This record gives sequence, C-alpha cells and structure tokens, in this order.
Amino acid sequence: MSTQFIDHVKIEIKAGNGGNGAIAFHREKYVSAGGPDGGDGGRGGNIIFRVDEGVNTLLAYRYRHKFAAENGGDGKGGKIHGASGEDCIIPVPRGTLIKDAETGAVIHDMSDGEDFIACRGGRGGWGNRHFATPTRQVPMFAKNGTQGEEKIVLLELKMLADVGLIGFPSVGKSSILARISAARPKIAEYHFTTLSPNLGVVRVHDEAGFVAADIPGLIEGAAEGAGLGHDFLRHVDRCRLLLHVVDISCFEGRDPIDDVKTINQELLRYSPVLAERPQIIVANKVDSLDRELVNVDEFEEFVRENGWELLYISAATGEGLREMIELVWDRLQDLPPILTYEAEVVEVEEEEGKVTDIRREGGKFIVEGKWIFNLMNQINFDDYESLNYFQRALQKGGVFEALEQKGCADGDTVSIYDFEFDYVK
Ligand code: GDP
Ligand code: MG
Repeated sequence: MSTQFIDHVKIEIKAGNGGNGAIAFHREKYVSAGGPDGGDGGRGGNIIFRVDEGVNTLLAYRYRHKFAAENGGDGKGGKIHGASGEDCIIPVPRGTLIKDAETGAVIHDMSDGEDFIACRGGRGGWGNRHFATPTRQVPMFAKNGTQGEEKIVLLELKMLADVGLIGFPSVGKSSILARISAARPKIAEYHFTTLSPNLGVVRVHDEAGFVAADIPGLIEGAAEGAGLGHDFLRHVDRCRLLLHVVDISCFEGRDPIDDVKTINQELLRYSPVLAERPQIIVANKVDSLDRELVNVDEFEEFVRENGWELLYISAATGEGLREMIELVWDRLQDLPPILTYEAEVVEVEEEEGKVTDIRREGGKFIVEGKWIFNLMNQINFDDYESLNYFQRALQKGGVFEALEQKGCADGDTVSIYDFEFDYVK
C-alpha cells in the first residue's frame, strides 16, 4: 500500500546571491571629472522556514524539491543601492526537524513556532565609491556580491504530542481521540489504517489540557519498514506517555496479550528509548466484552507482571473515558516535557574555502583566494577597527606566513584585490 501521508522529504534550498557593486562616476553638466559614485549591490534573499499550524504533513514537498530565494540587485551609478532579494518562505508543520541530508545531523527543530533562517543570502558588493582614497581617485573596480548559502536538507515530521495512542489497526484509537478531543479523525470499519496521524487537544480542566496523537496502526514488521508503521513510529518519538490500546472484546479473534507483545517488539526494534516510554494499557470496546469468551484474568495478570496500569473503556459508550483523562493528566504531571532536538554542530570542512593563491607579478606579491575576496566585502577600508579585523583574519588564515615562504620581505608591496600595502614584519 502506498501512502499519501508524506512525513519526510529531501529538498534543495539556496539563498539569493548578493548583487554586484557598480563602477560609475558622477557626471554633471559642467563638472568634467566627477568622483566615483557606484552604488552597492543589494543583499540576497534568505531561505526561511516557518511553522504553518494548518498543515500536518509535508505533502506540499512531494513533487517540489528546489527552493531558491531571489538574488540581490546590482548597484547603479548615482550611489543607487541594488534592491534586496526577496526571502523565500517555506511553510512546514510544527514539529518538523530540519536535518543535513549528508550527515543526518539536526540543524533545527521547528517546535517553538519561531522562524528559522536556514540559508543566508549573500552580501551585496561595494560600489567603487568605497574604494576612493587620496592616492586612488579613480577606482576602476567594485566588489561582486557574495554567494548565497545553499544546502540539501531532510525535512522530517515528528509531531508534538504529549500522549500517543498506539495499537493494532481497528482497536479504536481514532474513535477514542474523537471522543476525548475536538479532532475528527476518520473511523474505519475495516483495517484501513488511518493515513495521517491526527492531533487533538484534550481538555482536562478549564485551562489545562494535553495534546494527544492518534498514531496509525502499527503492523508486524513495521520497524523494518515492511509496512506503514515505520513511517509513523517517528511521531511517537516525542510523546511523553503512550496509551496502548487493545480490543478487549476480541471481536476479531485477536488475542490482546499477543497484540501488546507484538506492538512492544516493534517499538523496541525501532527505538529502545521509545520502548522505555511509560505506557498505560487501555482495554477498549468493553461494551462488547463477553467475559465467557475472553479470559480477562489472564490478561490482567499479564499486564500486572509487566508493571503497567490498566483501564477498561468504551469509545462507543464513553465508559471510563473521564477516568482515563484524569489518570493521563496525573501521570503527565510527573513526566519530563516534550522532547525537543538540539542542533548538532558538525565540524565544517573549510579546506576548500580557504585556498590562498600567492604569486609574484612585477615587483608585487599578488594574493588571491575566494575566502579573502568574500572577507573583503565585509571590510570598511576607511575604518581603523575594520582594517584591524582584516589584518587579524589574514594572520589567522596563514596569509602572512605563506607570503614569507614565497620570499616576501620587509618593504615589498602586497596586493590583495587592489588593496595594496607595504609588507612590514
Ligand atoms: P483505529 O484503527 O484503531 O483508529 O480504530 P477506529 O477508531 O477506526 O475503530 C475501528 C472500529 O471499531 C470502528 O468500526 C469503530 O466504530 C469500532 N469501535 C471503536 N471503539 C469502539 C468501542 O468502544 N466499542 C465498540 N463496540 N466498537 C468500537
Ligand atoms: Mg484510526
């Protein structure tokens, strides 16, 4: 069976590039040689993830995998600044994890409802007016904008619920959720598993409540990806408490003891941590229970041996539901809050970005490298502090060391993208 429910996707995201700075000169009717007045490029748009409370699947990204924010506009003459690129907003359900597609590391957990900037737009390059100095009044160059960040990410939906309803198909999970909350999940007559998890807010007292999720049926082999279950298990990852629902009427010839064992094996195979999560056994359909046919004592003995609490309820008549809600509420008071995922910092391999190229040309040492070029976009060469920062960055990046290795000595001229200075040890 294929599922329409999409809870993990891989997408490519790219922020906009910064616009280029302009090379232009002031022109006025009676002024022959005006000063440089090339405007700066605009910044590129960001890629921003935003929680959309109205959706609970990632279906929107099933066919659309590429997202790019707008590039910044180029600067123009007359000090005209290029336009900023438009941000690209990607709406996702609350509880979506953003992971690095390559390493699997968590980049961000969209649980708190705050916007998250996943890729920053490039900075606009400076127009030539920034590069005029007393000795260089006609700067014939401007800076290009920097590249916007790009990433390939996995989006993975892990819903935010305090309580997860788990159990075999048709035991009544959706019926229970419908009875105790305003959620209206599909109730199936047959073993058509609910295709997307449903969330419902359960009111306990006037202001207090908890969120319950109806997790679609877990079936045998699910943890190995054999059925639907595997996809859905990720949704119970965060639950603080599991309500393990069984059909105690055994209407379909099921054995509740076997069912509980099977489901717990699935949980264990998927995640030992999850298997440790507290459970309450909810014996549903007590309205149809025929005690002559079902060995309730044996079941109770089994539950007791495992140290679980047991409740008899009926989603059909409402019997036991109030007690169930009160018990869940009580237990939740003593349980840790919903799990949120911290960003996992991955060591970024900077090798590639830090290549410095030094060569001798005429009497000068020419220094080039993409990282230096990008760095220079941030430097205000008229500002002492900014220059100091630039110098420290070159030092840290090993530029001076490399220069000396190439034979650069006191008094030699070093040229870094037209920024020239005399080398002093
Ligand atoms: P789920 O697959 O676990 O979500 O199960 P559903 O909520 O879809 O219910 C499966 C079937 O069991 C439906 O036909 C329900 O009407 C029925 N059902 C659910 N709860 C009860 C109950 O307490 N008593 C009886 N007699 N039937 C129930
Ligand atoms: Mg259901």
